[in-house]
Amino acid sequence: MPLKVALDQDPQLMAILRKELKRQRFKLEMIASENFVSEATLRVGASVFTNKYSEGYPENRYYGGCENCDELETLCQTRARKLFGCEHVNVQPHCGSSANMAAFFSVLRVGDTILGMRLDHGGHLTHGAPVSFSGRLFKTEFYGVREDTEIIDYEGLLAKAEATRPKLIIAGGSSYPRTIDFQKFREVADRVKAYLMVDMAHFAGLVAAGLFPSPVPLADIVTTTTHKTLRGPRGGMILCRKTLAKAVDEQIFPGIQGGPLMHIVAAKAAALGEALEPEFIDYQRQILKNSQRLATHLTDAGFRLVSGGTDTHLLLLDLRGVNLTGQAAETALDKAGITANKNVVPFDRQNYCVTSGLRLGTAALTTRGLVEKDMDRVAEFIVDALRHHQDESFLNKIRLRVEEFTQGFPLYPNLEF
Ligand SMILES: *Cc1c(COP(=O)(O)O)cnc(C)c1O
Repeated sequence: MPLKVALDQDPQLMAILRKELKRQRFKLEMIASENFVSEATLRVGASVFTNKYSEGYPENRYYGGCENCDELETLCQTRARKLFGCEHVNVQPHCGSSANMAAFFSVLRVGDTILGMRLDHGGHLTHGAPVSFSGRLFKTEFYGVREDTEIIDYEGLLAKAEATRPKLIIAGGSSYPRTIDFQKFREVADRVKAYLMVDMAHFAGLVAAGLFPSPVPLADIVTTTTHKTLRGPRGGMILCRKTLAKAVDEQIFPGIQGGPLMHIVAAKAAALGEALEPEFIDYQRQILKNSQRLATHLTDAGFRLVSGGTDTHLLLLDLRGVNLTGQAAETALDKAGITANKNVVPFDRQNYCVTSGLRLGTAALTTRGLVEKDMDRVAEFIVDALRHHQDESFLNKIRLRVEEFTQGFPLYPNLEF
């Protein structure tokens, strides 16, 4: 039954769904942590598996009727292991944050010390921020980037690790645009006998395609989201060696979650199947080409990129030199039909609600089919909007141009409601 018919009785809800589809279709989605799943993944994510309880793991469930769940979860695991070359995977985390929580609990006790990347240098809330469970349950220490290069300060990392003796070191973040030297992290972890966890939430798709160094051979635990560059449904996964498999599984269930979202596990399996196809590598390559092209345009237009550029899908604009705040930039782009987010830059003097940075990502636009020449237009829209950020009518004109432009890249053309 088409959704339209199913929702005939609920026009209020239907109107909201319709508006959101429209928003996604007619705006340029440049939030670096977002993407568009395939239509297959979208549909599988809304399947009858949403009805099923399957606490436990394949062949070891607490409820009856799990034979298809077993087959599904096993398929999903097999695909994840094949894609990332890991010994063990848990595909049940509801999100990246719960993957991280379970990963921590599998090797740490409350009160142990963790060493993560500073949030304002590109880290993530769950890597020790005081407002997150991670900062409340563990003693936290941080490393950051060098002020001159804005690249991770590996010497500072070692010094911090030796001084604070963490039980776990975390690599990875949510606004760091560069490659990470996992070998160096491994050496530091070995030096202080710490576990090494890599949170590849942002760059997992690039890792899968072999375009970013794989942390899998070096880290004790790798966590990820499935919905960023990996282009799956909203969710998480934990990859680890066999020796930690039992601990990780127990910390997801019964540790912190109840029944897995089997419809989402199904959608993860669909997305992982797509990621195993050769076209996925072309897709990830195009993401990188698109972000390089965008970086060139923005730099040529006089904007400074943190670290001078990017190795990934993510660009971080430093607006301090052009007298703009991140907040003003985000608002102006939004009015111009471009969705992105303000972000702190390293050594930012603005507070978290204002910031001096703007984070941009190319993964979602690349999914829509944009290639380099299209990024020329996108860059033009962005530069125009930032230069005329106070001119409402000009921003509105850009929005109309953006709306027309997006129609050349249909999104879910078969979805009608
Ligand atoms: C996005 C992200 C997460 C959290 O993912 P959620 O699914 O939003 O909980 C964790 N770590 C990093 C590095 C991220 O970028």
